[in-house]
Amino acid sequence: IAAEITVAALPAALGRGATVAVLDISVAEEAEQMRRDFVANVSHELKTPLTAMMGFIETLRGPARDDVKARGRFLDIMEAEASRMNRLVSDLLSLSRVQSEERRRPSADVDLPLLLRGVLATLSPAISAAGVTVETGGLEGSQSLPGDADQLVQVFQNLIENALKYGGGGGYLGVRLHRIAYEPMLRGPAWAVEIADRGEGIDEMHLPRLTERFYRVDTHRSRAQGGTGLGLAIVKHIVNRHRGRLKIDSQRGAGSRFTVILPKTTTRA
Ligand code: ADP
Repeated sequence: IAAEITVAALPAALGRGATVAVLDISVAEEAEQMRRDFVANVSHELKTPLTAMMGFIETLRGPARDDVKARGRFLDIMEAEASRMNRLVSDLLSLSRVQSEERRRPSADVDLPLLLRGVLATLSPAISAAGVTVETGGLEGSQSLPGDADQLVQVFQNLIENALKYGGGGGYLGVRLHRIAYEPMLRGPAWAVEIADRGEGIDEMHLPRLTERFYRVDTHRSRAQGGTGLGLAIVKHIVNRHRGRLKIDSQRGAGSRFTVILPKTTTRA
């Protein structure tokens, strides 16, 4: 029935066998607002390095045309800005891919300790450069679970890179894998991977928003470290796809612990 039915008339309409579709406009509006905010954020994030690059190009064409030293310096800055844009676009593509795959459960198996050892090996230059002491636990042997290897690598790389970038000052990185006999929120046995640092930690007020796209505690610092503000959003979507959960414990001044909890078995869709 293509007719507008008032709430008062609903029982009568239903009595006559009408089908009534109730659309929650506030939810649709909220989603639309989030989409608009996201587009505005992306535009802003891309415009910042672009504006800087255009400024330097103008300077190189004008006042610094014959200044060889300044030219080298400006080209370095422009290269850094271009690679920032490159990282941002890569992360945006990653996020969009991960979001579009979120409903499809991973169909292959991954060896979790092997995968974690691989991530630590890949990041060993960055770990040495940060000068942190690494403590690992439970990474021996092999344990398989349903998962997307590339995506899980991305999760642990992001979390370890964050621990080095923001928590490296504490001189410690912990990477631990352990089994949970029963994880109440996942209603079953699970694996927990903990990435911990003893850096400056995060104020409690930020914790609920940390996995939002472009949310940063300190935007200036994130940018200076080469961050895009998308890392934890990507992590969250990948963990969701694996029907797992991400737990964040942090205390200002004491460090942070990010725990990825993955169900030991997922019913394959
Ligand atoms: P970014 O690209 O800015 O690193 P992320 O989404 O990975 O983006 O992280 C969002 C913000 O969370 C960071 O900007 C930082 O403020 C905070 N953060 C993430 N990991 C840590 C950590 N281990 N210690 C302190 N702050 C962190």
